[in-house]
Amino acid sequence: MDPVMHLLLPLLMLLALRIETRPVILLAPLTILPDFDAFFGLHRAVFHSFIPVLVLPIGLLLYSKFKRPEWMLSALIVQFYLASHVALDLGGVAFLWPFTTDMFYIDPELRFNMQGGLNFEWHFDAGIRDYQKMAETDFIAESTFGLLALVAIAAVVYRREAKAGIVRIWAIVREGLFGRLRRP
Ligand SMILES: [Zn+2]
Repeated sequence: MDPVMHLLLPLLMLLALRIETRPVILLAPLTILPDFDAFFGLHRAVFHSFIPVLVLPIGLLLYSKFKRPEWMLSALIVQFYLASHVALDLGGVAFLWPFTTDMFYIDPELRFNMQGGLNFEWHFDAGIRDYQKMAETDFIAESTFGLLALVAIAAVVYRREAKAGIVRIWAIVREGLFGRLRRP
């Protein structure tokens, strides 16, 4: 899945659920963090494995539960964002790296044709295949352009809310990035 969709889908979901906006916005970069394993030449492995996606966030959840209860919401958002990345990469991730680079994939398909009526065909395929290097990928895929168009239309229709939302999000980002620098 392309990085723009990786960011937008879980972010819009949490915003729609009206969970506290500040951590939802500030932690949003985690939705695309796993793809930076491409720098290590082991894309869809190093940062897509159970260690960064489950073990570390669960460690953070346990730490929050017992030592820093005020971190709990943020820890849950961290877990949701990282898990959402792997869930959306269901075409294949080396989830058990470093034990194996074999890729686990899920491929559900609902196809239809209109030859002699409306016929639906359901295919489900899941399994393990050899590691495949991804050389190049879409930054914005076709379906993402569709989603962006939908967001743009919603922003025009609800322009007052959209403007207030952008102002609010920018205030949170600015505070998150520069807030601490300004304080003595
Ligand atoms: Zn990925």
